[in-house]
Amino acid sequence: MTTSAPAPMENSQAASYQRLRHHLDLLKLSAAAEALPGVQDTAQAEQLSAVATLEKLLAVEVDATQARRFAGRLRFACLPNSSTLAQFDFAAQPGVDEKLIRELASLRFLDDAGNVLFVGPPGTGKTMLAVALARAAIDAGHRAYFTTAADLAKRCQRAALEGRWATTMRFYCGPRLLVIDEFAYARSQPDPDANAALFEVINRRYLKSSTIVTSQAGVASWGDRLGDPMLAALLDRLLHRGIVVAIDGPSYRMRAHQQRSDQLRRALHPGATP
Ligand code: ADP
Ligand code: MG
Repeated sequence: MTTSAPAPMENSQAASYQRLRHHLDLLKLSAAAEALPGVQDTAQAEQLSAVATLEKLLAVEVDATQARRFAGRLRFACLPNSSTLAQFDFAAQPGVDEKLIRELASLRFLDDAGNVLFVGPPGTGKTMLAVALARAAIDAGHRAYFTTAADLAKRCQRAALEGRWATTMRFYCGPRLLVIDEFAYARSQPDPDANAALFEVINRRYLKSSTIVTSQAGVASWGDRLGDPMLAALLDRLLHRGIVVAIDGPSYRMRAHQQRSDQLRRALHPGATP
């Protein structure tokens, strides 16, 4: 068998291929660079047009970029868990209006910078719903950030001492959706600096971007809890312009606990009426 020298056409193709590799590396399109041999094989096998081949190659890079951005948004958001709306058991929480929550999950409230306030006793799923909505926003390509009110206040107070108040305010104003969990948390003594930070963040975001607040204390008791009735009234007005979801159903934590105790009781006393 005689081996013939590569045809000039193949030579120039190899050179083009090398230049293309180099372009992709220079432009840092590493996913496309990695996929290039495979895409080229497919293009040859399926006799794809130049446009179709290019589209296939760039689609690989687009997918990789989107996955990277999503992971970045998720990391940035500091969600305390991976709750999604699909995991929320509406049947177990008759206190929650499913239609309203599904409407919120459409994220239309982000378009008019609406606020959402979840109020209800502990264990009723307030944090879970707030996290699930933040996750839906991240999935849809928005920037979201989760914090507790206590943590926000602490960071703002530290920032004020270190001369970073303005930067910190900009940070809290940046995300399209901010979740402030456990608002109006109980304090051992009045903390006007904490109140000022919470008010400033809510006020600056008002009408610009959405804030979700959860609170186990009804808005009427915020004055006592914050130790500042005027401020509580102002916050109430800002947040009440949004959607208030009052959850007055049973605690899901207690429900799980109750189910476990019932099971145990049935196991210990078979035949006994519940
Ligand atoms: P809250 O913030 O109102 O105190 P959480 O959102 O922290 O309550 O809920 C307490 C626990 O119960 C969490 O583990 C949460 O995932 C779970 N949970 C609460 N409500 C539901 C529900 N309706 N379906 C599924 N899990 C729930
Ligand atoms: Mg909670």
